[in-house]
Amino acid sequence: THQIHIVGGGLAGSEAAWQLAQAGIRVRLSEMRGGGDATPAHHTDSLAELVCSNSFRSDDADSNAVGLLHQEMRTLGSLIMAEGDRHRVPAGSALAVDRDGFSAGVTAMLEGHPNITVVRERIDTLPDGPAIIATGPLTATGLADQIGAATGSDALAFFDAIAPIVHRDSIDMDTAWFQSRWNKGASGRLSPGQTEDSRGLSSPDAGKDYINCPLDKEQYLAFHQGLVDGEKTPFRDWERDTPYFEGCMPIEVMAERGVDTLRFGPMKPVGLDDPRTGRWPYAVVQLRQDNAAGTLWNIVGFQTKLKHAEQVRLFRTIPGLQNAEFARLGGLHRNTFIRSPELLDPTLRLKSRPNIRFAGQITGCEGYIESAAIGLIAGRFAAAELLGHELAPPPVETALGALLGHITGAAEAETYQPMNVNFGLFPPIEGRTKKADRKRMYTDRARAALSPWLSSLPAAPVGALPADI
Ligand code: FAD
Repeated sequence: THQIHIVGGGLAGSEAAWQLAQAGIRVRLSEMRGGGDATPAHHTDSLAELVCSNSFRSDDADSNAVGLLHQEMRTLGSLIMAEGDRHRVPAGSALAVDRDGFSAGVTAMLEGHPNITVVRERIDTLPDGPAIIATGPLTATGLADQIGAATGSDALAFFDAIAPIVHRDSIDMDTAWFQSRWNKGASGRLSPGQTEDSRGLSSPDAGKDYINCPLDKEQYLAFHQGLVDGEKTPFRDWERDTPYFEGCMPIEVMAERGVDTLRFGPMKPVGLDDPRTGRWPYAVVQLRQDNAAGTLWNIVGFQTKLKHAEQVRLFRTIPGLQNAEFARLGGLHRNTFIRSPELLDPTLRLKSRPNIRFAGQITGCEGYIESAAIGLIAGRFAAAELLGHELAPPPVETALGALLGHITGAAEAETYQPMNVNFGLFPPIEGRTKKADRKRMYTDRARAALSPWLSSLPAAPVGALPADI
């Protein structure tokens, strides 16, 4: 017998299950993959599968909002962060992970937890008892219809896209070279107050996290034309008339915006010196390590809806990738989310059916870490409720509080769009400040606000934290 039912074993459902189980609550975690069902984006039966990039983005807690969110989640005993840290691969100041090791680690921790029963089953109706719905952007249609009926409003939809992955040994390293932009970590220049050492960049391999493929002007223009002319997968009926999410725009859509759009976007050459010429090339294609072994590399920013054969033909025109073997080609998929600011209360309960909470991307947050963070706080709220405790939402000055606040009320319901965590969601810093100091002020203020909230939390969870196991 379980005390709470979590539907969906992705980033959010896995984290919520962990938090509840650690608080001593018995959890049933239902995941349809492995039980005869699939989604258009997942490739495995593992819990917390990363469907596209292997990056958790910046790990800089002093000047980046998602880095701050990482830090807050670690403080709250996050399983997703613990396994992410354990399966880290080099990516400068970003936290990138070995995707298979990461998901296998999460799966093992959940399946091995005495308070969790993982059941491989698809759920088609909203549960009557305490529940968290964390079925993600690709929620199965039966349940999506039920959610639509229960919320009385139409679910919204937009596109997300998958970037191709290349086998490392098929890249021609006589043409391509290892280098991070400006010889720094993945996020580029050092931020104020940071030193090379503070980011762990003083090792001999520092500043060499990316593989770069150079294009001259003629090659770039031909490649650009190839993207514009290339044959695309036709839209399905349910995909028509849905706007793209800017952060995950297909490369060919970017190409259609203008001949130089890519040179100012994912193909930007600045800060990258081609060792054969000593100069920045006209344009570059960058690849980032995708697994711990370093055998797979993904093409950064190359999400695409081009047909598979077209992708192989066109991407092999990139110098260095002329013999590329692809472990996975790009794709494009729908994303489903509810109008949370209108439908959910401040603790993520569905106002019309308060036994049900929502968590993860279906609430309209965007990203692996944001989804896991909302899973974490949904789990904490549900645990507090079941144990008869009061739990106030985290302060809006914290990354977790700012993201939660956006979802549960701060955003405009009518124009609600999925959102990554960013300082724009935080209350503004009062008074005149230098722009360079502002990010640090946000993160210092967040840490100061988190401490009293942490002290107000109910007694420490039972069981060991992930780091202890
Ligand atoms: P998921 O991780 O998708 O988990 C939901 C789970 O619920 C799935 O395992 C699914 O099988 C299961 N499920 C669905 N319906 C049912 C049902 N009825 N019964 C039982 N189980 C069910 N974010 C990034 O940060 N970086 C990226 O590169 C990135 N790329 C993306 C690419 C695509 C194609 C998509 C769709 C999203 C991408 N995202 C990315 C956004 C987002 O971070 C991920 O979708 C993330 O996995 C969301 O976490 P989640 O827990 O909400 O959902």
